[in-house]
Amino acid sequence: MRAKKFSPFILSLGGMALVTAGLLIYGFVRITSLETKVASLSADIASTTTALVGVTDNLTHTLSAAEQNIEETKSNISSVKSQVGGVEQTVGTISGTVSTLQKLSKTDPELLQKYSKVFFLNEHYTPERVVEISKEYLYSEDRPEVIHELIWPKLRALIDAAKGDNVIIYVRSAYRSFDEQRALKDQYTVVYGAGTANQFSADQGYSEHQLGTTADFITTGLSGQLGGFDTTPAYPWLLANAYKYGFILSYPRNNTHYIFEPWHWRFVGIQLATYLHNQNLSFYDLDQRTIDTFLANIFD
Ligand SMILES: [Zn+2]
Repeated sequence: MRAKKFSPFILSLGGMALVTAGLLIYGFVRITSLETKVASLSADIASTTTALVGVTDNLTHTLSAAEQNIEETKSNISSVKSQVGGVEQTVGTISGTVSTLQKLSKTDPELLQKYSKVFFLNEHYTPERVVEISKEYLYSEDRPEVIHELIWPKLRALIDAAKGDNVIIYVRSAYRSFDEQRALKDQYTVVYGAGTANQFSADQGYSEHQLGTTADFITTGLSGQLGGFDTTPAYPWLLANAYKYGFILSYPRNNTHYIFEPWHWRFVGIQLATYLHNQNLSFYDLDQRTIDTFLANIFD
């Protein structure tokens, strides 16, 4: 028997089939391997993403915690600030009170007392310190006048300011002691009779002049008389400006204490004088308690 012979054609077909099968198998294996890799990568990505989400969540949480801390710190700071502010304010109030008390302890309470027919000043009362008024400010240069030491600069400034406005003001008299006031009253009583003298001159002990804070002003054109002072330019000038230097008109027109004394001006401090000026009140309109609240600042 002869060996069956395969034609070369068939042989080459078989070879091709084998090669193709081999390629298919190789392809299949390769694809499977790639799929596995893709699946593994997908799993990696998924797990990485999960991890990243976790980290982001953690960061977000940390951030919001940090923000909350900052807010809390801010509110702590502002609370501390407001506490410090409160303490400062308290300290300020206390030191203000202390300085007011110190001023008060050094200020003669008589300086803002009412003195008129019903308010009496002790015969032994004398102002703490007085100084002589410079001669060029006096109407009678040969008769020395004194005034409270701390009021003199204010009085001088007032007269200088008037002069700057072409208004001439002189001091006719200032401090009068208890005895001088008594002598003056006696003299007036002899000349005018007791009834008339009582209308315009205070008895000793009831005069603001004994305080050393008060001045009678005079101007030119009155022949040395006080009467008629309200008809001169000096009077309206004083009404408009004296308060700026702490002086007030004690006995204005229609007051119930004395006759109208346009020449008689008392120092009560700039604060009180300004208050009276702005409220259109006179010193004797106020009660003593209200007046006393201005005492600590009388020389400010
Ligand atoms: Zn007077």
